[in-house]
Amino acid sequence: MRIVLLGPPGAGKGTQAVRIAEHFACGDVATGDIFRANVAEGTPLGRAAQEYMDRGDLVPDDLVIAMVMERLSVPDCGSGFVLDGFPRTVAQAEALDHRLAGLDTPLDAALHFEITEEELFRRLAGRSAELHRSDDSEQTIRHRLEVFAIKTRPLVDYYARRGLLVLVDAIGKVDEVTKRILNDLAAKST
Ligand code: AMP
Repeated sequence: MRIVLLGPPGAGKGTQAVRIAEHFACGDVATGDIFRANVAEGTPLGRAAQEYMDRGDLVPDDLVIAMVMERLSVPDCGSGFVLDGFPRTVAQAEALDHRLAGLDTPLDAALHFEITEEELFRRLAGRSAELHRSDDSEQTIRHRLEVFAIKTRPLVDYYARRGLLVLVDAIGKVDEVTKRILNDLAAKST
């Protein structure tokens, strides 16, 4: 299975990505986690990404695309992958398509996590208190939601046009949402 997860910050992509990757025994690639690890280690990539992340802006496409293309070459992605947080722009989606077309391994599905803004703020406020993420302050959350609406939401149409879009109701218990996703994916592949 080769899947991308779309949806605003706080929609539960990270939690579900781990479960989906486990289910299909494939790679779980979370770009935000990779950036945070690089920031913590003080690598050149981390230093380049940090100011964008702290503001709640997207890291420039060239940096993200190079990082993800390298990550997809790691053997755990040979049997497939769940991309959590990538692509976030049309340019990133095109780079991914190009890479996968070259390998003759197209995407199977793009899941869009649908959730109300009210529920998002409730979840992100909880995550901010728990994880102390510098980009989970209320003002930065608002900005990240705007960035999502402008830069990432167009990918919903992009994947719908390619027949890959699966809409996921992301409200509910974690187990229920996982079950919905696995059912939807099974229905899509039959
Ligand atoms: P996340 O944990 O997925 O919410 O990502 C945290 C931050 O990492 C984002 O707000 C961006 O600054 C950066 N980031 C993660 N993935 C991407 C991406 N695909 N494109 C650009 N920036 C990204």
